[in-house]
Amino acid sequence: MVAMRCQNDYALCSYKYDPDKGDPENHIPPGTLLKEVPAGWICPRCRAEEVKTAEE
Ligand SMILES: [Zn+2]
Repeated sequence: MVAMRCQNDYALCSYKYDPDKGDPENHIPPGTLLKEVPAGWICPRCRAEEVKTAEE
């Protein structure tokens, strides 16, 4: 399963993007697939500007 997760270790943030819920903070509607999330996505929880993607 491919997942996108905030890796802001300084803030100990573990936000994980859920395609079923989308990301209202970033105006991403529910049902938006991971691959459709635009580059430059910013973590809505800690506002980290650089967020990496990860595969599980
Ligand atoms: Zn974060």
